[in-house]
Order: sequence, then C-alpha cells, then structure tokens
Amino acid sequence: MKNVIVTGGGSGIGLAIAEKFAAQGHTVIIIGRDEQKLNAARERIGGNCHTLSFDLNKLDELPALAERIEKTFGFPDILVNNAGINLKKNFEEVTDEDFARIQQVNVQSVFAFSREIVKSMLREGKGSIVNISSMASQYGIPKVIAYTASKSAIEGMTRAMATELSPKGIRVNCVAPGFIATEMSAKALNNDPERKAKVMGRTPMGFLGKPEDVAEAVYFLASDAAQYITGVILPVDGGNSIGF
Ligand code: NAD
Repeated sequence: MKNVIVTGGGSGIGLAIAEKFAAQGHTVIIIGRDEQKLNAARERIGGNCHTLSFDLNKLDELPALAERIEKTFGFPDILVNNAGINLKKNFEEVTDEDFARIQQVNVQSVFAFSREIVKSMLREGKGSIVNISSMASQYGIPKVIAYTASKSAIEGMTRAMATELSPKGIRVNCVAPGFIATEMSAKALNNDPERKAKVMGRTPMGFLGKPEDVAEAVYFLASDAAQYITGVILPVDGGNSIGF
C-alpha cells in the first residue's frame, strides 16, 4: 500500500482522486486551506485518510511541510498536484497582482512542493507524480489569461520533469480535464449560457464530466499499471479537445 498526497483534496476533483486511492486501500493525505472542508472530506473518504490544513501560497514553509509528511506517514510514493484556482476576467482588466496570484498557486507552489517531495523520491529511486492541467492549454479560451498561462506552464513542467526525473525512477504525468462538474466550472459556466453552449457544442460526448472520471485517469497514471508511461498529457474531456 502506498502513501498518496493530494493537494486540494477537500473538494471537487481532488476529493474524488483521494476517494479513489483510499478505496483501493492506500493511505491518503489531503492538503487544503479550509479545515472544516477537509474534515468533512475525511469523513466522506473514510479508510486511511489524513488531513493537513495548509495554504500552498506559503512557499517558504513547503520544505517543512514535506518533511513533516514524511516523518508522520513515511515515504511519499505518489504526489498529485491538483490544487488550483481560476480567474475569469477580461484580458485588459487582469491586474499584475491577479496574474501573479494565479501563477503562485497553480505553478510556483506546484514546482516548490514537487521539488521537496522529489528529494525524498530521489533517495528511494522511485515515485510517481501526476499534475493537473486544463483545456485552457489545449486551445485558446477567452477571459482566462492567467489561468491559461499557468496551465500551459504545468504541461511544459510535466515534460521537463519527466525527462529529468524518469531516468532516476520517478514518473511524471499530467491529466488535462475537460469541463467537469465542480464548483470551479460552475463559477465559470453558470450565468454564462453562451459559454456553456459553446463548451457543449464542441464536446462530442455531449455532457460534462464527473470528478470521478478524472480520478480514474489519475489513479491509472500514478499506479504501477502505467509503469512505462511518463511525460504524457492525458485529456479526460469527452472529446472536447478534439471536438468541432
Ligand atoms: P475546486 O475549486 O473544487 O478545488 C480546488 C481545490 O484546491 C480546493 O479544495 C481548494 O481549497 C484548493 N486550493 C486552492 N488554492 C489553494 C491553496 N493556496 N492552498 C491549498 N489548497 C488550495 O476545483 P476543481 O474543479 O476540483 O479543480 C481541481 C483542479 O482541476 C484544479 O487544478 C483545476 O484547475 C483543474 N481543472 C478543473 C476543471 C473543471 O472543469 N472543474 C477543468 C480543468 C482543470
């Protein structure tokens, strides 16, 4: 059985990922900012689930967080970098602060936390990391400039990490969810029927995905069943990225 860290595991896609690993008997450590939400998630997940209330914006505290996780739970076999935030605003209204805030959570904390966890993985010569991207880096979507930049960075980082770390036993992959029914997509699509119609119009399967659909793909890529797979970006999108 493995130790699995899921950032943003208290809600949406992260919660479904944590549930999947826990249901398979793994130890799951979910990280998020909202203690109440984390506790509710732990109740729902059951099994061997632990919560860590932490704001991933605190970059300088990430080394201590990684150390604490290893001391408490043992070797971190799997890291799922799922936590992320979105911002829907017209291009010209996005401030430098807005842009930086999105990069800090979606890119910099992913880099800094991965770096710390990778130090442990390198010592053991094994490990598996799954990052979460988005359709925003498969094609152009208006009004999400900062989010798009961050998710494009995630895909580039996935390839760079995979080429550097795979020779040392660490696989790095990425899942690019399409439009999945969570709070995040509700904020982006509800009250914007035109955008929602556009999304559905180019989704061949014709409906929104479920967090569980993403969880299945993350589970596969993280598991030993995917032992010869590294550096891939796997869309889980009902065909949205290839739809006309
Ligand atoms: P969500 O808002 O339900 O979950 C995001 C989680 O990240 C929350 O639990 C939140 O607390 C956590 N988080 C955010 N900032 C944090 C911080 N500073 N420190 C700690 N935790 C933090 O959204 P979701 O839809 O489940 O999104 C999960 C991931 O999937 C994100 O990376 C998102 O970009 C990506 N994604 C979602 C969709 C979709 O349609 N829902 C599509 C493509 C990609």
